[in-house]
Amino acid sequence: MPVGKILRDGVRFLLRRPVTVRYPFKRENTSVLEGFRGALKYDPGLCVGCMLCVKLCPSGAITTADRKVSINPSRCILCGQCVEVCPRKALRMTHEFEHVTRK
Ligand code: SF4
Ligand code: SF4
Repeated sequence: MPVGKILRDGVRFLLRRPVTVRYPFKRENTSVLEGFRGALKYDPGLCVGCMLCVKLCPSGAITTADRKVSINPSRCILCGQCVEVCPRKALRMTHEFEHVTRK
């Protein structure tokens, strides 16, 4: 590759605006694309305790007690299979991507 082209490309890239976001220092433009699978939310009021999600979860993140489910976020791989199988729409994927907590 000619040296002139390398220098030209280098200068062009140095002057260009960054395409990445300075997260978490700057939180603007941190929206996610449609279809993004973020944190899983569970609505116990809709759940009928059919246990389909427990049987289908590939990582064993869902456990049950008293016909209600409990999700272990540290085991969940955000595959969304439980959301698809739930007949009552008691599970849904959100656009939340900040999973870290102090607990
Ligand atoms: S999203 Fe996937 S890994 Fe997470 S709880 Fe549902 S089935 Fe299990
Ligand atoms: S599949 Fe839905 S309704 Fe059935 S146990 Fe899981 S969350 Fe509840």
